[in-house]
Amino acid sequence: MRAYFHTFGCRVNQYETQALRERLGGETAESFEDADLCVVNTCTVTTEADRDALRLVRRIARRNPAARLVVTGCLASRDPQAILKEAPAALVVGNEGKDAIPAMLGCSAAPAGVTGLSNRSRAFVKIQDGCNMSCRFCVIPSIRPTLSCKPYPELEAEVRGLVERAVPEIVLCGVRLGRYLSNDDGRRVDFASALERLLSLPGDFRIRLSSLEITDVTDRLIGLMASSGGKLCPSVHSPLQSGSTGVLKQMGRWYSAEFYARRVDALKDRVPHAGLFADVMAGFPGETQAQHRESVDFISSLGFSGLHVFRYSARPGTKAARAPGHVPERDILGRARDLRGLDQRLRADFAARAVGQARTVVAELDGRTGLTEDFLSVRLSADPGRGLRAVVVEPAGAARLSA
Ligand code: SF4
Repeated sequence: MRAYFHTFGCRVNQYETQALRERLGGETAESFEDADLCVVNTCTVTTEADRDALRLVRRIARRNPAARLVVTGCLASRDPQAILKEAPAALVVGNEGKDAIPAMLGCSAAPAGVTGLSNRSRAFVKIQDGCNMSCRFCVIPSIRPTLSCKPYPELEAEVRGLVERAVPEIVLCGVRLGRYLSNDDGRRVDFASALERLLSLPGDFRIRLSSLEITDVTDRLIGLMASSGGKLCPSVHSPLQSGSTGVLKQMGRWYSAEFYARRVDALKDRVPHAGLFADVMAGFPGETQAQHRESVDFISSLGFSGLHVFRYSARPGTKAARAPGHVPERDILGRARDLRGLDQRLRADFAARAVGQARTVVAELDGRTGLTEDFLSVRLSADPGRGLRAVVVEPAGAARLSA
């Protein structure tokens, strides 16, 4: 069986696709036209995410009607009918049924978890799932409402397995990563303790954290980043959403811009070269032009390395969708443009500051590009092969192997 996989959305989805790929076995098809089975793992975080997923589902159904099509993920949980409209013969399985997909396809269920990589040189390991917060713009709590964490012994076994297979970078991910809580033989293992224990495992590897909330960027976590000698990547991606405290309150976020700034100061104090990235939303209902400016000024003052800019789009069933004061589309577009321009400047500054400095990269599988510990993407002077490699950063996004 040749299977094609396509993942939309976050690293949790990427991990879940990889786990499915390994459980289904068989050969991977590069294009859906060549596949006997197509698996599309969807996202529904924005209107664009829905549109992209539905477009692919439609294309697969039209161009390869003979293939078995499985559509899973957050859109499949939220709106299965929209998928069936595009592909009536598809097997649509929400997140809650993802684990049963191999059995539905007649494959025996191998253990969950991942043992390796798909098309990247990094492995994602999902350690936590679900969110029970109530940010007014977000559909996730209605789709993945239950907080659950991978038991620590399983997590450690998965990481050990990846290290034994010489995976150089392991990315820990979760919907609320910092809420990780498990136990091991009756002993409580919270997020920082889990990290501490994983970092003490022998081997030539490093751990990167995917997105985590600023309230989870604790002194303990910062301490681990400062003392790990690069084994815990000095890079934080923490959703900000807005640099205006008024807008944050309206969004139902639980921190102020000032709190966010204090945690960034604490991080920069102990890990000065840490990469710092944030999700920012343009045009939340009720956001005024003055609040947008306030947000831009706040972001400009904070030393970010880059932004992930989202345009607000009303998600069905959320409080924000029913709120008054929706910002006209052209204003949302204009504000998103401002933020994207700022992102480009921040990324250019981040790259320029690194010139002449030593970094450690993990090369992508093409051998031509790599990612530094602080999340700078660089073009490599030569293919360094697999593993962690020392480089010196050069101008214009290049890097020279130094050892
Ligand atoms: S945006 Fe808010 S509600 Fe949505 S997943 Fe993040 S914390 Fe949970």
